[in-house]
Amino acid sequence: MGIDLSSEYRMLIDGQLVRADRTFPVINPALAKPFAQAPDASDADLDAAVAAARRAFPAWRDTPIAQRRGAIEAAAKAIFQVADALAPTFTREQGRALAASRMEIQAMSAWFKAMARYDIPVEIAADTARTRCEVHRVPLGVIGVMTPWNSPLMLLGFKVAPALLAGNTVVIKPSPFTPLCTLRLGELLQATFPPGVINVISGGDALGPAMTRHPGIAKISFTGSTATGKRVMEGAAGTLKKVTLELGGNDAGIVMPDVDLDTVAPQIFMAAFMNTAQVCIATKRLYIHDAIYDDLRDRLHAIALATRVGDGLDGETVLGPLQNAAQQRRTFDLIESAVSAGVPILQGPAPDGPGYFAPVTLVDNPPENSRVVAEEAFGPVLPLLRFSRVDDVIARANASEYGLGATVWCKDPDLAQAIALRLETGSVWINSVAIPTPYAPFAGHKQSGIGSENGRDGVLEFTQPKAIHLAKG
Ligand code: NAD
Repeated sequence: MGIDLSSEYRMLIDGQLVRADRTFPVINPALAKPFAQAPDASDADLDAAVAAARRAFPAWRDTPIAQRRGAIEAAAKAIFQVADALAPTFTREQGRALAASRMEIQAMSAWFKAMARYDIPVEIAADTARTRCEVHRVPLGVIGVMTPWNSPLMLLGFKVAPALLAGNTVVIKPSPFTPLCTLRLGELLQATFPPGVINVISGGDALGPAMTRHPGIAKISFTGSTATGKRVMEGAAGTLKKVTLELGGNDAGIVMPDVDLDTVAPQIFMAAFMNTAQVCIATKRLYIHDAIYDDLRDRLHAIALATRVGDGLDGETVLGPLQNAAQQRRTFDLIESAVSAGVPILQGPAPDGPGYFAPVTLVDNPPENSRVVAEEAFGPVLPLLRFSRVDDVIARANASEYGLGATVWCKDPDLAQAIALRLETGSVWINSVAIPTPYAPFAGHKQSGIGSENGRDGVLEFTQPKAIHLAKG
């Protein structure tokens, strides 16, 4: 068991590593240059992966949960052991700094380990003199797993580990921008699970829609943008597939005047710009109380000036490039929209290129209805917004079609809790960078998603209830 980093990238179908007839290039965003080729799955490859997953399903479903748990724990161990070796490939395809790449791989391992611990309960819904009703949670069948390019491995931990624990089999499709480490994962886990239980395929823009329509897939577990999530739902409607959708966000951070700025300014900076701001739960609008606005703005600017942006493989780099050219264009376009409206900006340094770099950009109190406030940037451009009343800031934070997460920075625990309860989001972090845990449900409210991941809820998403009614006497 292991991976051969010098070998060509192949797909895992029915326990075999296979080539596709065609390949597509994968670009290193720090150099804006292709550095590897990934298999471009055909319709026949997709059919073969789904057929293998369907064949493997009955035996995996009927495997005792303790044995399934054992295989998932073995996977967690195997993943952890390759974190150092695989991190440079992750940086080359995704862009982030090497240490952060290692953490992403370790996070995937941690999720496999944590999700494996859950039980699938049998609930006794009624037990009377005449009848007993048991509610079992049974798996759905083949799960189509689709991931975005910003966090392609940790998100597999959210999806694949609970899906397998519940007794489903999976067909995994990474984003065409970041397929390589997911393909290596298939190679790594080839012998950990019976053939067909895990399948990994990669391909271009047509593969995702083909999966959403595929009659052999029972459910799609998707993370990506809200716009694509809507298309996934449309595609799934034809066969009435179940869907879990984890989508975009425009998370507000609220900073109250009682905070210790020495402590929180660096944390708020990372909450917004970690992974070059390509994080679904990054702070994307920062509401700062009037009394500390200027001070915090200037501190964030000082941190930006001292933050090294560069190639993730360079040991000095803190923030890597944007992952792709479109994301870089979008970031510059948002910055330009603020500048052309006459809003002041404060920036840090960034290399000119050839990679997809962008400077950390703080936008100084733009109008609430400007694009840079209303849209999900998913790049290092952060609007700073003044407020003075709690009711006003809550209303502004909630005035969004998104409802993914939020952060509150406040020393007074009662006030922080009161604000958190009024925010219309699936998660709120108080005095902490937004970091998900395997133990709590992660659910997007409003247009940030359908269903939830992680925690017991996240496991049950990969099951359906089945009631058995037993007449007594
Ligand atoms: P995206 O929506 O462009 O792509 C996501 C995946 O969908 C990719 O694998 C892509 O190939 C596939 N895809 C594209 N078109 C498809 C279609 N019509 N049918 C089926 N699949 C299709 O997202 P992205 O740009 O890769 O990722 C960034 C977005 O993801 C941001 O909006 C971010 O907020 C969101 N995100 C959300 C979470 C969360 O948990 N809520 C986590 C990470 C990222």
